[in-house]
Amino acid sequence: MNCNLCKEHLEAYLWGNLSEGTKAQVKAHLEICSDCTQVYNLEILSRRVISEEKELKSNPFLSTRVMAGIEALEQTRKTGVTVPLFRRVLKPVLVAVSIAAAVFIGIMAGNKYQPSSRPENVPVELTYMDDAALESVNLLANN
Ligand SMILES: [Zn+2]
Repeated sequence: MNCNLCKEHLEAYLWGNLSEGTKAQVKAHLEICSDCTQVYNLEILSRRVISEEKELKSNPFLSTRVMAGIEALEQTRKTGVTVPLFRRVLKPVLVAVSIAAAVFIGIMAGNKYQPSSRPENVPVELTYMDDAALESVNLLANN
């Protein structure tokens, strides 16, 4: 038996679907040929991996552990025993301090603001100009 024929029969050999004569020939070839033995071992290995994947069952304790974790979480939420210090105290304090700082900065910015056209800087002539006379509202009105 040559290598090509052996590899052709390997699948049937693994399934046990070969006649006794061919089966013996394949077996004899596998004993002398390392190349075909390698292919044969790979086939066996892949078969084992596939069967283990198929047999993979869910852990029966997984759902129990998940439910226990959820219950523990709800318990701590109700009692508030293990709420970390940061969440309980530090966070509200930080929020209050940041709001106070924002208000303070706003007040300071408002006090620092100086309008560019202060009344003292306006020329005397402009204070006597009568805007109402220059631009009569009647001009803009549609008759
Ligand atoms: Zn061979």
